Amino acid sequence: MHYTTGLFAFTLTKQARFAVAVLKPTIMKFGGTCVEDTRAFERLVRIVSAQAASRPVVIVSAMSGVTDALLESVVLATAGHPDAAMRLLERHWERYQIVAQALASEPSFFAATLKNARSEIVDLLQATKAQTMPRPLLQDLIASYGERLSAVLLAAVLRQAGLPAQPVDARRCLITNSEHGRAEPMLAQTERRTRTELEPLIAASRIPVLGGFIGSAEDGTTTTLGRGGSDYTAALVGAALAAREVQIWTDVTGVLTADPRLLPQAHTIARLSYAEAAELAYFGAKVLHPKTIQPAVLQSIPVRICNSRSPEEAGTIVCAQTEMSPRTVKAIAHKTGITLVQISSARMLGAYGFLHAIFEIFNRHRTAIDIVTTSEVSVSLSLDDASGLPAIVNELNDLGEVRVEHKQAIVCVVGEGLRGTPGIAARIFSCLSDINISLISQGAHSINLTFVVEEDSAVEAISRLHAAFFESGMTVKGKAVVA
Ligand code: ADP
Ligand code: ASP
Ligand code: MG
Repeated sequence: MHYTTGLFAFTLTKQARFAVAVLKPTIMKFGGTCVEDTRAFERLVRIVSAQAASRPVVIVSAMSGVTDALLESVVLATAGHPDAAMRLLERHWERYQIVAQALASEPSFFAATLKNARSEIVDLLQATKAQTMPRPLLQDLIASYGERLSAVLLAAVLRQAGLPAQPVDARRCLITNSEHGRAEPMLAQTERRTRTELEPLIAASRIPVLGGFIGSAEDGTTTTLGRGGSDYTAALVGAALAAREVQIWTDVTGVLTADPRLLPQAHTIARLSYAEAAELAYFGAKVLHPKTIQPAVLQSIPVRICNSRSPEEAGTIVCAQTEMSPRTVKAIAHKTGITLVQISSARMLGAYGFLHAIFEIFNRHRTAIDIVTTSEVSVSLSLDDASGLPAIVNELNDLGEVRVEHKQAIVCVVGEGLRGTPGIAARIFSCLSDINISLISQGAHSINLTFVVEEDSAVEAISRLHAAFFESGMTVKGKAVVA
């Protein structure tokens, strides 16, 4: 390893290399269920204590359900009911208060912080009702309290347990553009600010505790990274600090072969490549925010997904290399609520510029497209967010005949082994011969095979594929399945 510091360039010895590796921090991100109540906080104390020597930097989400409630309070206030909005939040403030009284150092300090937060939120909800500031700006500010309170509370709980924790306002580290509700980080500023804020604390052997999900725009206003964004915060902070590892602690043991809410028999995948994890996250595996992998890849930082309720289990490690799964398929992800749009026109035949014209319309309406397939006279595409569709269809009508189908689901089969393993597509589709499949996509070198079915058929399709690829010897619809 070769380092340049100021005037000196030097090569590190083996021991020194080891020391540098040890000095790298470990990012530990705890999701909403990891801080849902007093027992969950007690578990976190044990988990962080066990890694106190590996320079932890803690990222924490709002308590489970709190972001939903804060966003709901904005809806109520917008409809003219700020008092009802405050009443809705009471139960959640109580939860923070109960944990503080049971476990925090200086619970009266936390009580004062909570009291301030509540009175600020009252003012913000009144402003929402009166529309004195743009709603997206107020919404992000109100939503940020969940993570901000979690960070202050968790730091106090860790301190009470003898750990040198210090809350840090994540908005001082994560600098984003001004796109409220789905802000994009500005990487250079974020790296600089994160290092300035956190490195002195880490060097002084303190444990920084930051709320995930939140940041600030250059004008100082509070922004959020989109739902589930705390994972992304953890990866961004990890990249800024060149972390040894990013750990995502949640309520399941790693990334599973399918969504466990649909298939309780889904099991943990020990290793995933960055590409596999990114595909699964993008196509609906909620356990990772879709953007989490990006910052980790650039610096080859391993991402580990662990269960805070069973910390002794290894979970999933995501890194650059992975052995090919002997079954070639690693997991099945899915996303419901998808809309399909088909544009047909004879004008497309042999013409150039047609696809450009279509994409330009979606681009202008800031609507992301997930999958695209084309035939000689039609283009089909799938959308996750169809809110801009009426205006888009209006413009698409000038290009051809437009057909829209709602209530669709994307199913995505992922595995490095899909690349160049013959017969996989046949195996997948033979399980689904009686299910209507409307769009299929697989790139020449891609590691996923993705298709669209009607929402009502999604569970059946996933169950059959799971049985075929992961439940050897099981029977699907009367047919024996060979894995
Ligand atoms: P957190 O609050 O810790 O960020 P999330 O609810 O965002 O947790 O993500 C964890 C949830 O993701 C799990 O409880 C599980 O229901 C869901 N999930 C969906 N697909 C998968 C999958 N393939 N593997 C693991 N969990 C999944
Ligand atoms: N609290 C935020 C949400 O519920 C962010 C997160 O938990 O990752 O979306
Ligand atoms: Mg999450």
